[in-house]
Amino acid sequence: MLILLQRTTPRGLKFVLDKEWALKRTLVFFSPSILPSKRNGGRRMPPKKKEVEGPGPLLGRFGTSLKCGIVGLPNVGKSTFFNVLTKASAPAENFPFCTIDPNESRVAVPDSRYDFLCEHWKPPSCVPAYLHVVDIAGLVKGAHEGQGLGNAFLSNISACDAIFHVVRAFEDEDVTHVEGDVNPVRDLEIISEELRLKDGECLKKAMADQEKVATRGGDKKRKPEMECLVKVREVLEEEKKDIRFGTWSSGDIEVLNKHLFLTAKPVIYLVNLSEKDYRRKKNKWLSKIKEWVDSRDPHALIIPFSAGLELKLFDMPEDEKMRFCQETKTQSISVLSALGKIIATGYQTLNLQCFFYLWSR
Ligand code: GDP
Repeated sequence: MLILLQRTTPRGLKFVLDKEWALKRTLVFFSPSILPSKRNGGRRMPPKKKEVEGPGPLLGRFGTSLKCGIVGLPNVGKSTFFNVLTKASAPAENFPFCTIDPNESRVAVPDSRYDFLCEHWKPPSCVPAYLHVVDIAGLVKGAHEGQGLGNAFLSNISACDAIFHVVRAFEDEDVTHVEGDVNPVRDLEIISEELRLKDGECLKKAMADQEKVATRGGDKKRKPEMECLVKVREVLEEEKKDIRFGTWSSGDIEVLNKHLFLTAKPVIYLVNLSEKDYRRKKNKWLSKIKEWVDSRDPHALIIPFSAGLELKLFDMPEDEKMRFCQETKTQSISVLSALGKIIATGYQTLNLQCFFYLWSR
């Protein structure tokens, strides 16, 4: 099905399972070199040691639905982005979005591969991959200790599989900034620090619980879990890194997936630009944001967009929108590609299930 027969060799077949996807999931590739061959007397050759550059394995639970939380300081454009996503999904009548509550929506994920399969097989019903999007109330400095809306929003994030981190790079005197001025690099630092501190707090609690069970209760099976939590503490407190950048064994990953730490979740950075900056593709903060992300979260996606512009476009009738885009030389909507890219980077498993469903008919 998704397995592509890449090439046939005299010694065997090479299978590639959507390579990009498999690399991210650290799946094993079957290649002729590890198959027993006649030339080496049927002995299994040790696999060549090859360093695979790229992001480490994704942490998180596999499920049939992907939930993304939108986080950021107040007044950076989170709700506007949320509205853009839900509105963007609305025109496709077959794929209705559904507002679960005012802050949570389900949007159909655009995917040309899925469209192709539906067109080709014409199944009796088409169910696209959906993305649950949650607009999480603005975080502020000290949120992990209960500042602002405090801990309530943090538990909302822990229920998500991934994070859209929105930062503000637009100037607007009418829109106040909680820190006094626009500085997206400082804002990135504030939010990621809050998430890390909150993880530290949850870790303390988890360790105390484990200690009770593993030490006092004498349950030795829990010891590996405790060892993993100690490693988590080193990563968070000594190395001051997010959990997803630690080196984890498969046993550790099982433990991490149980605890749903905030900094274990993959992040997509969304830079909210003014309409003018988005159109001229220039903003003084972009290179600094890229530097920050490259040093703190290499391989993460950064998507510059203009929430104000996108919302304006969605409110226009189709012909007016086209005229506007032509006259102002504005490119088509970029935020939607964020969703497509999540699929392309293989995070969404539901999408793969759609393939299997369609192919098996
Ligand atoms: P949130 O608190 O992060 O959810 O921010 P909102 O989405 O509620 O936006 C806060 C204010 O910023 C609102 O008045 C928006 O109209 C405004 N805003 C959002 N995006 C943009 C933008 O791209 N440009 C400008 N000028 N204003 C924006």
